[in-house]
Amino acid sequence: MDTKVLDQKIRYRDIELETEPINCCPGCDGDNFELYVGIDWNDIGDKIPFEYMRCNDCDLVFQSKRMKNPNQYYQSYYRKLLRVPIEDELISEWLRAERTSTFLMRSIVSMDKCLDVGCSAGYLLQMMKDIYGCEVTGVELSEEYSNYAQEHLGLTVVPTIYDLSDKYDLITMVHILEHINDPYPYLLRIKELLADDGLLYIQVPSLVGSFQKAFRFHHPLVFSEKGLINLLERAGFWLYSNTIPMDVLSMFFGVDNEK
Ligand SMILES: [Zn+2]
Repeated sequence: MDTKVLDQKIRYRDIELETEPINCCPGCDGDNFELYVGIDWNDIGDKIPFEYMRCNDCDLVFQSKRMKNPNQYYQSYYRKLLRVPIEDELISEWLRAERTSTFLMRSIVSMDKCLDVGCSAGYLLQMMKDIYGCEVTGVELSEEYSNYAQEHLGLTVVPTIYDLSDKYDLITMVHILEHINDPYPYLLRIKELLADDGLLYIQVPSLVGSFQKAFRFHHPLVFSEKGLINLLERAGFWLYSNTIPMDVLSMFFGVDNEK
């Protein structure tokens, strides 16, 4: 029996997924990391089949194994696994979009052209467009949500950041980066899409916030304040501003043209 192959498959709720082991830190490529959280813990009542490591060099916390084909998971399983009726989820998304758009408007001056990565149903973009007059584009892998944003809200939505060629004054990633297996090349691509004087807004669950919100099956990464800043600086961004609400990290970054 080839146990190695079996080891690479995991069952989570009612789906079977291919996984791959992580040999180096996804933040800095280093191998100076140690166990941070074992597998004996729960995520909304379910045991999660991954342990988390913490990098001693860049402070990133990451799963020791991860999903091999996350796009497939997000396209087909993600919304169903959350077990939330779509109507209820839309209401909470609308409320979050209202909070975020107000916060963005108060925080920055120029945001004519906005891109929301992981725009879901598209409410944040709709508000940026209707209330603040921005030109908006969304990125969303889930076909169901992308169709909703396009058909009901009339937005332009593409599946991935590699389907874009424009430059944007503001790029928002609200609870997205913690889902990305390889954040470094992903952020390099984001940097290409950001105008020279543009801003990237990132919000992620905080390592020191709610344990259950940060450590989830579909979160290959968990960020401390230092871990998030280190990763962004390595990818060629500089910290523009940092507000620290209760459970999340919330930061603006600019492009560092020296890098
Ligand atoms: Zn590292």
